[in-house]
Amino acid sequence: MTIGDNHGDGLDIRSRLAAVNSDIAAAAVAAGRDPSTVALVAVTKTHPVPIIRQAIDAGQRLFGENRVQEAEAKWPALRAAFPDLRLHLIGPLQRNKVRRAVTLFDVIETVDRDEVARAIALAFESLGVTRDVLIQVNTGEEAQKHGVLPGQVDAVVRACVDTYQLPVRGLMCVPPLNEEPSLHFALLREMARRNGLDTLSMGMSADFKVAIQFGATLVRVGTAIFGDRPAAEGSD
Ligand SMILES: *Cc1c(COP(=O)(O)O)cnc(C)c1O
Repeated sequence: MTIGDNHGDGLDIRSRLAAVNSDIAAAAVAAGRDPSTVALVAVTKTHPVPIIRQAIDAGQRLFGENRVQEAEAKWPALRAAFPDLRLHLIGPLQRNKVRRAVTLFDVIETVDRDEVARAIALAFESLGVTRDVLIQVNTGEEAQKHGVLPGQVDAVVRACVDTYQLPVRGLMCVPPLNEEPSLHFALLREMARRNGLDTLSMGMSADFKVAIQFGATLVRVGTAIFGDRPAAEGSD
């Protein structure tokens, strides 16, 4: 068995990455879109550095992690070795970790409340940096899920832009597990359109092709590249 082959499909990370990239391109073309308008965020949560290195060696440069603390343990050395890496935070962000998140990540995809937006603005100012941000939307209005409710998206976008001067580029969502995702993708696209935002982070291993059909510009794919993760996944 190849290192990183916990799919049991006999393929290594390089082959699976190539397969995902070609599926992305095919889905884009089928939707009448230029494949270069869809970027793959390779999601490496729970996977150790040697596994990540295989994806880097295969040419992948854009990655996503969902916990600040875990990312801090894995990424600074990789970033020093590969200055063109880009890292997105795709998991929930708490106010007390904002400064560390802004230090490590290039894009924060999961802004979902006022106190976090305010803390990000303060961190930008005190660190003398800026980062693109996305607003996470709880399109399924699930009680246990993070994200702004659909009815509050326009107000939150306005507050982030007008009050906190954050560079809001778009919206992100994780649809409910057992629902047809296309309705959620269509909803996210419409909310982005009416707010003049052009980045749509939606679609994971199981549904990234559908997401591309509905306009995804960032697809966040873990399992299809790196195989199954250990069952327990905490969050920060
Ligand atoms: C883990 C995770 C992904 C990747 O999911 P897969 O099904 O493994 O592709 C995408 N987005 C978020 C927010 C995640 O936490």
